Amino acid sequence: MKADVVIVGAGPAGIFTALEMIKKGSRQKIVMVEKGRAVEDRHCPKDQTKRCMNCRPYCHITTGFSGAGAFSDGKLSLSYEVGGDLPNLIGPDLAQETINYADKIYLEFGADTHIEGLEYPEDRKEIRKRAIHAGLKLVDCPIRHMGTEKAQAIYLAIERYLQEHGVEIYFGYECGNLILEEDVCKGVSVSDGKTDMEIYAKHTVVATGRRGADWLEKLCAEHNIAHAPGTVDIGVRVEVRNEVMEMVNRVLYESKLVGWPKPFKNKVRTFCQNPGGFVSQENYDNNLAVVNGHSYKDLKSDNTNLSILCSHNFSIPFNQPIAYAQKVGELTNMLANGQILVQRFGDILDGKRTWEKELAQSNIRPTLPDAIAGDITAAMPYRAMTNIIGFIQAMDYVVPGFAAYETLLYSPELKFYSNRVKMDTDFNTSLQGLHCLGDSSGWTRGLMMASIMGVLMGRKIAEEG
Ligand SMILES: Cc1cc2nc3c(=O)[nH]c(=O)nc-3n(C[C@H](O)[C@H](O)[C@H](O)COP(=O)(O)OP(=O)(O)OC[C@H]3O[C@@H](n4cnc5c(N)ncnc54)[C@H](O)[C@@H]3O)c2cc1C
Repeated sequence: MKADVVIVGAGPAGIFTALEMIKKGSRQKIVMVEKGRAVEDRHCPKDQTKRCMNCRPYCHITTGFSGAGAFSDGKLSLSYEVGGDLPNLIGPDLAQETINYADKIYLEFGADTHIEGLEYPEDRKEIRKRAIHAGLKLVDCPIRHMGTEKAQAIYLAIERYLQEHGVEIYFGYECGNLILEEDVCKGVSVSDGKTDMEIYAKHTVVATGRRGADWLEKLCAEHNIAHAPGTVDIGVRVEVRNEVMEMVNRVLYESKLVGWPKPFKNKVRTFCQNPGGFVSQENYDNNLAVVNGHSYKDLKSDNTNLSILCSHNFSIPFNQPIAYAQKVGELTNMLANGQILVQRFGDILDGKRTWEKELAQSNIRPTLPDAIAGDITAAMPYRAMTNIIGFIQAMDYVVPGFAAYETLLYSPELKFYSNRVKMDTDFNTSLQGLHCLGDSSGWTRGLMMASIMGVLMGRKIAEEG
């Protein structure tokens, strides 16, 4: 098959590449290849079974049209300071301008007009004052919250728009490799398990998300594509009662706090806060179970969850951050019989595991009922655990009660952003014809940042006609 552009991965980065090409009036033939299903066919069986079924060959939460975005909380971070390091490549002004532009597109397709985090200036001042006292930095970031159900409807509208405008989307097809001719990328080879296809294109856009990071790392090694080992974040998902987070939830919706706790002074940050939300389990293809969180627009729990993440970088002699984080995850999974571990904060400080019956003694009920009560400190590296404990204690100044005995810590929460693909400002890799976007490129880690990388890619390619 021949196309002008082949896009591998129909997450926000891939989608917005195609969308922007259409919006700019490009007449080029666009083919998308997505190993999962169309957004309307994506269903997580856990809705019925109440427990993760470890779906094979892939997890429906992270795979399919709109990628990890469909079942995500749909929080669009409207500040260039949040969502990845792309602004370091393209400049903060262009990043912010493009965020404002992409935000309008989300509105066009039905996103809620309300923005969280702009009201209550006096309360915001108070929160910042407490953060300063605690030695934490409060990052201002207005949020547009789509909500999990609404996000699916918005992405369905985009899917239909792309198809109506001639984009050919091949669902159920996985990309195996690039097609190279004389050191130029000429397209990709894909398969649905029965039929193999070769798709030739002038531009190959790889946007395979966090799930595709391992695969892309192998491609980089195989084809000598310039890249640098990136960062992995290792941490926990913390869950407390809504009453504890009431002020921060009301004023900021999402608190973006950063600290450098003693003695290591590594960067530790909050991420993905879900007021009234639910803790969830994701399963990677290699059987790794990791914890995450989301919230619905209407269905609310009594709890708020958020992750606390410590960034890890490596240099010599070891430079495989993904492999490192996977080992931490595997060890934690092993202790929980393949599930997610949960432990009370007070038990961690007391040096004891948490027992199932002790969870019932708390005000808080875990929203991930199949998490296994146990000892996350038996698998968490000392440095990460010390950072997390120090950060939670600092957070207690900002949010009194955050470091309570009953506060729940779920593990492993792992964020793989590794393998930053080296590119110029037009997203050209060292391999002619190949562009790498979104979370798998190592430059983004959020819906909005991945979306704007797609917008800029689409704009660049559309200049050719
Ligand atoms: C549970 C959850 C909640 C989240 N909540 C938020 C949030 O509220 N706000 C926020 O900003 N971010 C959130 N995120 C992160 C956000 O979803 C991602 O940052 C974003 O989706 C990245 O976009 P992407 O296009 O780079 O990749 P993805 O969205 O991961 O899409 C990549 C796509 O590529 C496909 N693919 C992978 N490999 C191949 C292959 N070899 N061949 C063909 N197809 C392939 C995958 O199936 C997938 O559909 C959340 C993530 C999760 C998992």
